[in-house]
Amino acid sequence: MKVGRSTGLTDPGRVRRRNEDAFVCSPPLFAVADGMGGAQAGEIASRIAAGAFREPSGSGLDPQARLRSIIQEANRRIYARATGDPTVSGMGTTVTAALFAGNDVAVGHVGDSRAYRIRDGDLEQLTHDHSLVADLVRSGRLTPEEAEIHPQRSVITRALGTDAAVSVDSFIVEGRPNDVFLLCSDGLTTMLDDAAVLEVVSTAPDLETAARALVQQANRKGGEDNITVVLFSLDEGEPGEEDTLSGLEVPPAVIAPAPLRAAPPAAATPRPRPRPAATRTPPPGRGVSRALLLVVVVLVLFAGIAALALWGLSRAHFVGAGEDGRVTVYQGVPWEGLGVKLYREVYVSALLALQLSPEERQELFDHELVGEGEARARIAPYEEQARP
Ligand code: MN
Repeated sequence: MKVGRSTGLTDPGRVRRRNEDAFVCSPPLFAVADGMGGAQAGEIASRIAAGAFREPSGSGLDPQARLRSIIQEANRRIYARATGDPTVSGMGTTVTAALFAGNDVAVGHVGDSRAYRIRDGDLEQLTHDHSLVADLVRSGRLTPEEAEIHPQRSVITRALGTDAAVSVDSFIVEGRPNDVFLLCSDGLTTMLDDAAVLEVVSTAPDLETAARALVQQANRKGGEDNITVVLFSLDEGEPGEEDTLSGLEVPPAVIAPAPLRAAPPAAATPRPRPRPAATRTPPPGRGVSRALLLVVVVLVLFAGIAALALWGLSRAHFVGAGEDGRVTVYQGVPWEGLGVKLYREVYVSALLALQLSPEERQELFDHELVGEGEARARIAPYEEQARP
């Protein structure tokens, strides 16, 4: 067996100005990285990770160990840069990588970029996200459906570059001819569900078209984050020289943050309003005043319920984490939908969600609604402990 076709594509999406994703598509080695950090730090982190895949370390190791070795090397490089350069301190990146060897595909990952295998019309997610909502689903506090629309779904609990040591998940899956593997950043999977991804990949005539269609669909759904996809298929036949890692040529820059921004929708021209039809005024009488009274009573009731709800919300606080992964106290309830957020930040800690152990996270991010003082008091000991 050998790698058949392969392709990669990245796009900034429709909301973000920068593209902090990077990818490598150098058969038999593939990777996607999704950087984070202020200013340009996210871009730097994901590019350093991609760089480590372009001159892969660990020759002589088995495929799984080799992937781990490359990912560890990427971590060392990003951490060294982050600790040596104050302008990029705290930066990090996810990485999800695959290496084809023999009849197998080794997969290694850190963070919430995913690997999927498409076989016989089925899509199987191979990786388990290292994210706050994945933790909440595992502990039974969220359903997978709730996790998909959760406001903090992009907060990761493991990243490359934020610590001198990183724990890498890796495994081997068996490959078969006609299998298609997909590596992608969360900008794809937060916009499209598995069924939509499968539909696109299985109906596209080739992988290049599939990659473009995936990016296009994610943008059509809002394109809220950078979108990156890498696709490769397996075929019958002997692997060529170019398919083995030892013969790997260092390709020219494969990170291609080529802006593919869709044109903004044309402003809708306001429609002329139809003139209101002349209304007939009913003769005044008891019927009208009674109806009026009823309307007033209903309005007062609604206002009362709304005020009560707002009062409840103003007293409720929960611990979560912001976009940048910092532990945060929110006022309200963790819900967002129809363009409305039922929570707001009241305190942002210097503590990062990924500085906590899984047990600590489970204890802290339980989504219990408490008073603000109580929420702050829960964070304090961890802040104390994280201080150098
Ligand atoms: Mn992302």
